[in-house]
Amino acid sequence: MLTEPFLTATNILTKIESYGYQAYFVGGCVRDYLLGRPIGDVDIATSAKPEMIQQIFNKVIPVGIEHGTVVVRYEQESYEVTTFRIDGIYSDNRRPDEVEFVNKIDEDLARRDFTINALAMSKNGHIIDLFEGRRDLKNKVIRTVGNGYERFSEDPLRIIRALRFTSQLGFTLAPETLVDMKEASHLVNTLAVERLTNEFSKLFAGNDIRKAVTYMKEIQVDSYLPVFRSFPSLIKKLPSNMHSLMDFGEVIAYMHIVEPSVSISVWVKEWKCSNRTKKDAIHLVNSYHVFKKHGINSMLIYQLKRPYLAPFFRVVTLADPKVSISMEKLLTINEKLPIQSKTELSINGQEIIDLFPLRRRGPWIREIMDSLEKEIVLGNLRNNNKEIKEWIRWNPPETN
Ligand code: ATP
Ligand code: MG
Repeated sequence: MLTEPFLTATNILTKIESYGYQAYFVGGCVRDYLLGRPIGDVDIATSAKPEMIQQIFNKVIPVGIEHGTVVVRYEQESYEVTTFRIDGIYSDNRRPDEVEFVNKIDEDLARRDFTINALAMSKNGHIIDLFEGRRDLKNKVIRTVGNGYERFSEDPLRIIRALRFTSQLGFTLAPETLVDMKEASHLVNTLAVERLTNEFSKLFAGNDIRKAVTYMKEIQVDSYLPVFRSFPSLIKKLPSNMHSLMDFGEVIAYMHIVEPSVSISVWVKEWKCSNRTKKDAIHLVNSYHVFKKHGINSMLIYQLKRPYLAPFFRVVTLADPKVSISMEKLLTINEKLPIQSKTELSINGQEIIDLFPLRRRGPWIREIMDSLEKEIVLGNLRNNNKEIKEWIRWNPPETN
């Protein structure tokens, strides 16, 4: 008996079938279901063309209609529904130039990257397994569907995806797949960077990143990756006892700390990361330097802010394995902070101005706020309106 999230999605399959078309769950969701892992997106493959899906369902978003993919919104959830297809040539190594829709799931499964990803499941839970994907799942093996070298040449991203799955699932590469990856690794050069960054973010966040790092070194794929290709010894900075970094900002922060000659800007530019990722990396690196100078104290934790405690912990323990900090300690200090941000100060700007009626407005107001914030975070002053005013009277703004 299927459970959620398949249960709700089963209604979509039933509806498509009621129009005389075939429909299956397919890809990662079937793999994760058989592995007993948490299921991410439920993807559906069907013999119905995208236009037909648009007719059948009320809310359909045409996200990639030329490649046969639409998103069906159903009971507040989104499902990617893709028409059975075979891929044309990948001339730009970004996406196939054209796709051809087909009528049978068999051909659709054959175009998929790995045996464990080429599984389909009917609404009754019947598994279609044309490439011994279940055997590979059982043996924890990543193996290409068909000739590995050809499949990697068609779309070299599959090389990175294979590495990503070793990290995410802790699986081993089939010996012939490993050989094929080695032979095709130079093709990684040609890939659109955004595709790489997406897969690498998942690779670094995986549970078994050690495995992926070992394979990366073995196939020397670093010679074809942004930044790494210009710094041949950089790959060695990924230790073989590497632990996961949950976000690409953490990856950049760590890499910059262990190799300061590559700036954060260069990483961000070459890997085409967002401004958000850049800001995160800068914040983590700055915090790391403060930590190296002053150790852990309440001001550092205060400036880091709660969402960055775990990223900071992961980066520091990787960059400085000998350092003895614990996540518990960071959390405890954070919980004990008298304030979490300036907005929590028990005094506002107007009240400060009112204390010095003869003064003109100016930077002194902000300076007082900054001093108050610091004194309160360090525990030298209580966050109490009366005591704050008293403190200001004793520490008036500098005259001028
Ligand atoms: P995740 O759980 O991370 O989403 P996934 O296996 O679902 O893993 P997706 O990138 O969402 O990965 O792709 C969905 C499915 O599409 C895969 O399981 C695979 O069958 C197929 N697929 C994705 N990318 C490729 C590719 N580059 N070449 C061939 N098949 C692919
Ligand atoms: Mg998926």
